[in-house]
Amino acid sequence: MVRLKLFLTFMLYSVFVFSVNSNVLFIDTNEELALTEHAQFAISNTSVLTGRENWVDDPSSLDRKPTQYLHFKIEVKSKSSRPTPVWFNITFPAIKHLQVSDGRQVWNTGDALPFSTREINLPNYHFPSILPANDSVTFTGHMRGEILRYNFSLATPEKVINDYVDTLQRDMAFFGAMAILTALSFLVFFATRKIAFLSFAVFIFATTFWFFRVFGYAFEILWPQTPELNDISYAVSIYALLLSAFGVIVTVLKRPGRQIYGEKFIKWFCYLLPLIGIAVWQTLGLDLALRLPVLLFFPYLIISVVVIIVEHKRGSDIAKRFAIAMLPIAVSSLFLVIIALNNTLSTWDPVATFMAGILLTCVFMIVITSNYLIRRLQKERDAEKEVALMKSEQTSLLESLVKERTLELEQSNRMLAELASKDALTNLPNRRSVDLFVDASFEGLVDGDRNIAIALIDLDHFKTINDNFGHDVGDIVLKKVANTLAAFNSENILAGRFGGEEFAIIARDMDDNTFYNMLDKVHDGINGLSLTELGGTTVGASIGYTVCSGPTDVVDAFRRADKALYTAKNKGRNCIVRAKKEE
Ligand code: GH3
Ligand code: MG
Ligand code: MG
Repeated sequence: MVRLKLFLTFMLYSVFVFSVNSNVLFIDTNEELALTEHAQFAISNTSVLTGRENWVDDPSSLDRKPTQYLHFKIEVKSKSSRPTPVWFNITFPAIKHLQVSDGRQVWNTGDALPFSTREINLPNYHFPSILPANDSVTFTGHMRGEILRYNFSLATPEKVINDYVDTLQRDMAFFGAMAILTALSFLVFFATRKIAFLSFAVFIFATTFWFFRVFGYAFEILWPQTPELNDISYAVSIYALLLSAFGVIVTVLKRPGRQIYGEKFIKWFCYLLPLIGIAVWQTLGLDLALRLPVLLFFPYLIISVVVIIVEHKRGSDIAKRFAIAMLPIAVSSLFLVIIALNNTLSTWDPVATFMAGILLTCVFMIVITSNYLIRRLQKERDAEKEVALMKSEQTSLLESLVKERTLELEQSNRMLAELASKDALTNLPNRRSVDLFVDASFEGLVDGDRNIAIALIDLDHFKTINDNFGHDVGDIVLKKVANTLAAFNSENILAGRFGGEEFAIIARDMDDNTFYNMLDKVHDGINGLSLTELGGTTVGASIGYTVCSGPTDVVDAFRRADKALYTAKNKGRNCIVRAKKEE
């Protein structure tokens, strides 16, 4: 970024310096004209002289209204021994109506001819003539317009053209550099959306157009019959210049969440100035309306100095650099004012100095503001990054916490499910699990699709064990029996506690014989339990079983198994009975 800024600064500087130095001058054949002249001025209400006018040497002593005509009569004497071709020049930016004559020819603009058809199509007015050898010629004419800031000069065409080329080169270099700066400010504005750069763009644009009166020339080409547009464009650019200058101050010094010193006043001033300008134009005339913003430049300078100082004291880190950036324009304006007041002739071009001041100021302001902005954006970005980092850390912490909690929840759910499905004393599947196993075995099936075998086991004379050895011993016996049964549990076999000292075994897809053999093993297992708690006696178990043929047979099958168990008890206990078919 620093390299880019250096490159841009260098580029702008080169555009300015190289354009100024690349001279394509005509050969200067100018020789000093040895002249004496006598100028006189008068005012009249019409373009035609009545003869009663009062002619004076000092035109500033005449009080002229914009509608009145200023007449001039300038006698020039040549001491040359041969006739000299010359241009009589009038420098006057806002002429409306002008007529000049050297006694032989008459040149008109405005009055008789369209505005753009003046004899020489140059920004100022040049009238070609010939000075006779050792004789005099008198240039006469009149002018009428809003502002009469003018001067007359006489020079050889070569001198005028050389001066003109010099000025044109200087102006074009300035114009080019200012155009680049305007474009740059617009670009930065579109990239950053910071209003400060829009103010810069308007300021630079207005300054350039004020200098060149570009609108004026364009209007002159487009609407030659309406020369007033020239003055209006001049007025618009000078008002825009003053307003955007305030805009630059306010937007550059603005800090987030804080009003800058005098902001309200400046804003009201900016809103009211154009209205005041229009009111002055309509009541007191365009002349005064055009002078208004020029006069306001002095209060503007004082206001900006105060604002910058106060903002600096308030801790604005850009105010000091902003003030330094304004130095070139301040110094160059000072030069211009001194030269203008003293009417000193200098070896350098004062307007070029002023232009260089404006240009450097604009470059400095853009560079420091960009620099400031980049640092602020960087800070914002760093803060955002930090926040993002914190957020991601928090998120991952939260995620791990959620994971941990989910795991805990899953674990407790599993525990709960186990508790709900297991019998607390024996840790065998409980009666609910037995029912669910049966339901699951027939899920989606109809009668005939699958058989399950159901056996109910009831320990014999258990009450007596409890009575003789105590309830605790009874519990131990129940656990031991449960262990024997638990060994048979698999994917298709479920052995569970049905309630009290009753157990159930459910087997899927097992034929009668295999089931019987398994029950036999269970029976042997229970009988074979070594029960030291009972003093060496064993425990018997009666088993009734049946085959369930489908979902509609479940209730009946359990009833059949229970009946078979009852039969086993009746048969003397500790035996296995298959439910009869008809049962
Ligand atoms: P039968 O051979 O006719 O089955 O005789 P029985 O004594 O086993 O008679 P019954 O089935 O009516 O008695 C069951 C006894 O089991 C009654 C109860 O005290 C005992 N019992 C039920 N559940 C538990 C238990 O969890 N722990 C203990 N210790 N005893 C239990
Ligand atoms: Mg019982
Ligand atoms: Mg019993």
